[in-house]
Amino acid sequence: PFRPAARIADIGVSEILQIGARAAAMRREGHDVIVLGAGEPDFDTPDTVKDAALRAMQRGETRYTALDGSPAMKEAVQEKFRRDNGLDFSAGEVSVASGAKQVIFNAFMATLDPGDEVIVPTPYWTSYADIIRIAGGVPVLVACDAANGFRLTAAQLERAITPATRWLMLNSPSNPTGAAYSEADYRPLLDVLVKHPHVWLLADDIYEHIVYDGFRFVTPVALEPALRERTLTVNGVSKAYAMTGWRIGYGAGPAALIRAMAVVQSQSTSNPSSISQAAAIEALTGPQDYLDERRDSFRVRRDLVVDGLNGIDGIDCPRPQGAFYTFASCAGMLGRATPRGRKIETDGDFCAYLLDAAKVAVVPGSAFGASPFFRISYATSQEELREALARIAVACAALA
Ligand code: PLP
Repeated sequence: PFRPAARIADIGVSEILQIGARAAAMRREGHDVIVLGAGEPDFDTPDTVKDAALRAMQRGETRYTALDGSPAMKEAVQEKFRRDNGLDFSAGEVSVASGAKQVIFNAFMATLDPGDEVIVPTPYWTSYADIIRIAGGVPVLVACDAANGFRLTAAQLERAITPATRWLMLNSPSNPTGAAYSEADYRPLLDVLVKHPHVWLLADDIYEHIVYDGFRFVTPVALEPALRERTLTVNGVSKAYAMTGWRIGYGAGPAALIRAMAVVQSQSTSNPSSISQAAAIEALTGPQDYLDERRDSFRVRRDLVVDGLNGIDGIDCPRPQGAFYTFASCAGMLGRATPRGRKIETDGDFCAYLLDAAKVAVVPGSAFGASPFFRISYATSQEELREALARIAVACAALA
C-alpha cells in the first residue's frame, strides 16, 4: 500500500483549495456561487508584459536560462530594489524562482536542519508552516492580537526566540489580514533582532504595491542595514502585476544564502520559465503607472466590503492597510442557530453556513491559524461584491 514520507504525512491540502473545490462542485450542480476565496487579482496581465513574452519567444528565448535567473532578469530585480526600496544588491545577491513560494521553499530547504525553529506570527499564510515542516524545521506560531492590528510585538518576539531559532518570518502587507508594518511598527522588532545575531529574517513583501490611504511601504533591510547580512527579502510579480500564472518570484540576500538556494533549485525545477522571465523584466522595468490605478480600484472595493461587513450585526471588520483581503471577526455569530436548527460553534461552521445559505465562499480564520474570523478576498468586481454582501447580510439576519 501507499505510504507517504513522514515529512508530508501530516500536511493536508490547503483548506482554501478544499473550499474552492466545494464551491466549484456546487456550481456544477447549478448553484450560483460567489467565490471570495482566491488569492489573486482579477485584473489581466498588462498587454505590454504579454507583448514582451511574445517577442521573447519570437527571438528564440525558449531554452534553459541561468539557473536562478538570467542576467537580464537579475538586472531588472536589482533595478526594482534600487528604485522602490533604495537598496543596492549585486547579481550574486539575487535569486529568481518559479514564484515567491519557491523562493521561500528554497530558503528553508537550504537552511533548516531537523529541530530548527522558525518564528511565524499568526494569522499567517499557512504555506509558511507547511514549507518549514517539509524542510524538517519546526514552525513556532505566535498569535498576534487583533487589538494590536494583528502585528507581532517586540515582547512576543523576544519570548519566542530560543537558541534553536533560525528565522523570523514577517509578511507586510499580510495575507490574510491586510495588516501592514509601518516604519514605527517595524523598529522595535528590528531592535530585538539586532540583539540576537543567530536569528535571520525572511521578509515577504509580495503585497508591497497594494497599500492604501497614503501608507508608506518599507522593507526591513532598508530600515536596519545591520540586518542586511542575515535577511532574505522576498517579492514577486504575481500580485502587483497580476501575473499569478507566470510563476516568477525573486529574493535578495547574502550571497552565501543565495548560492545555497540555487543548489536546491538546481535539483528541483532548474531555471524559471525563460518566457516568464522576459515578461517579468518588462513588468519590473516598464511603465509602472497602472499600479496606482489598480490600487485605487482595490481601495474602493476594500471600503465597500469593510463598510458592508460592519453594517452586519455580529461582524466586526478592521480596515486593512494593504493587500486585497479583509479579516473580520465573526465572534458575534457563535452560539447562534441556523434556520435548520444547527448551532454555529466555530468560524468553520459560520463559513459552511454562508456557503450553504448565501452561496458565498469565504475562508475561515482557522485556515490561517486564528479563530473566530473569516477572510474575504475582494479581488473581484464591485457588482459581485455588492451581491455577496447582500446575501451575507440576509443569511446572518436569519441566524437566531
Ligand atoms: N506570499 C504570500 C503572503 C502570498 O499570499 C502568496 C500567494 O498567495 C505568495 C507569497 C506566493 O506568491 P507566488 O508564488 O505566486 O509568487
